Amino acid sequence: MINRKEPSFRESVDLMFNRAVALMDLAPGLEEKIRVCNATYTVRFGVRLRGEVKTFTGYRSVHSEHMEPVKGGIRYSLGVNQDEVEALAALMTYKCSLVEAPFGGSKGGLCIDPREYEEHELERITRRFTYELAKRDLIHPSQNVPAPDMGTGEREMAWMADQYARMNTTDINAKACVTGKPLNAGGIAGRVEATGRGVQYALQEFFRHPEDIAKAGLSGTLEGKRVVVQGLGNVGYHAAKFLTQEDGAKVIAVIERDGGILDENGLDIDDLQAWIAKHGGVDGYPSGKYIKDGSKYLEADCDILIPAALEGTINLDNADRIQAPLIIEAANGPVTAGADEILRKKGCVIIPDMYANAGGVTVSYFEWVKNLSHIRFGRMQRRQEESRHQLVVDQLEGLSSSMGDAWSLDPEFKEKYLRGADELQLVRSGLDDTMRVAYQSMREVWHSRDDVTDLRTAAYLVSIGKVAASYQAKGL
Ligand code: NAD
Repeated sequence: MINRKEPSFRESVDLMFNRAVALMDLAPGLEEKIRVCNATYTVRFGVRLRGEVKTFTGYRSVHSEHMEPVKGGIRYSLGVNQDEVEALAALMTYKCSLVEAPFGGSKGGLCIDPREYEEHELERITRRFTYELAKRDLIHPSQNVPAPDMGTGEREMAWMADQYARMNTTDINAKACVTGKPLNAGGIAGRVEATGRGVQYALQEFFRHPEDIAKAGLSGTLEGKRVVVQGLGNVGYHAAKFLTQEDGAKVIAVIERDGGILDENGLDIDDLQAWIAKHGGVDGYPSGKYIKDGSKYLEADCDILIPAALEGTINLDNADRIQAPLIIEAANGPVTAGADEILRKKGCVIIPDMYANAGGVTVSYFEWVKNLSHIRFGRMQRRQEESRHQLVVDQLEGLSSSMGDAWSLDPEFKEKYLRGADELQLVRSGLDDTMRVAYQSMREVWHSRDDVTDLRTAAYLVSIGKVAASYQAKGL
């Protein structure tokens, strides 16, 4: 529950923005132009369901059109409202700018609990919502390109893409109207895991910098780090899975809607996720200690806290009691502006949302490019790359036998070296590069300016600087 003294989500984003622009020297009026949300469209539409007409309320907000198309997810949740979509749209502007995805910021939402509807009902609702947005160019390959967010996924994106294609039968680029589609409907390998994968790459990059690790009062690598995750959905599940299975971190607690589960020995993420899928929550999970008020585990003693559920979960009510020295904001806006201040004073390092969860939009960017180029990444060069590598291997092995001392390369090395990159490997490589470069741009500001003491302000300075340059280049 959010404290009454707490600003709204949008106010919170604006407060953080204001803190950063106070340190910048922007042209008069430009600050206001960048901060404000350009437009928010509210639509109410009816769908005949279960013998009656049900009316739904949806939003699509466009924060900044300094680059087009604008981009941002569509969320299905009962918490959706204008304030929330506007805050999320603003974050999209800053996020795209920070990771150099060439989009303006947008966000959408439908006020609905998707768990209350059957699949065929959700399809009708989604198609109708898509129709309402598409007829106003709020879904469009060159104007506005949605993606999944809380409560939506590949299935909804496939319905949206199909609905758009039905309305635009001669548009050869119709598939680029939305990203996060299934692979067989114009999607890209690695999109489902992308945001969680990006969280992993962000942490890997953080742990490459001993100075930064020390700022959080930590040491060493990700190996053995004790992690708490809130929300084991798309983002939280993938982040937790990769960090435990590939980096040797230990997820000691998971917080879900119905409570939290804590096990100091480390939780088996795939097993827990399968349990949640079957039983609807963490209650009853055979290992660990269950508590009904799961948010208490946000305050658990751990090395890394990953809020990956929704906004405002770390707020004025609990910030004082948060023990994690490092928080990575996998969700959008999980730390309110007030909590941010308290945590900064305590010396907690926060890797901010606009960077931490940018993996989703980064791979969405790759998907959009794939749709517009109408070809899978790697299709032209993969085998050519393999045959060039084969030439080197043949030459080396030939050389050894001509010198009378026949030897061959280690089969495992050969197999790895000879294999050309497929789409998934290229996507991961592009994402890893994006996360590293963006982190370095933030940390440069963080370390080089005395007036910048946290990564969030650094992130805002980098991204607002780029948005401002883009507006100025347009003559504004
Ligand atoms: P999701 O719907 O797949 O998962 C959300 C999870 O959080 C679910 O498991 C849900 O049960 C849980 N949850 C909901 N309320 C909770 C509560 N009060 N306490 C604990 N758990 C709760 O959504 P997602 O796509 O994983 O998105 C999560 C966050 O990440 C959101 O803030 C979203 O905006 C952000 N995000 C998502 C993407 C993406 O690609 N999906 C990209 C960038 C940012």
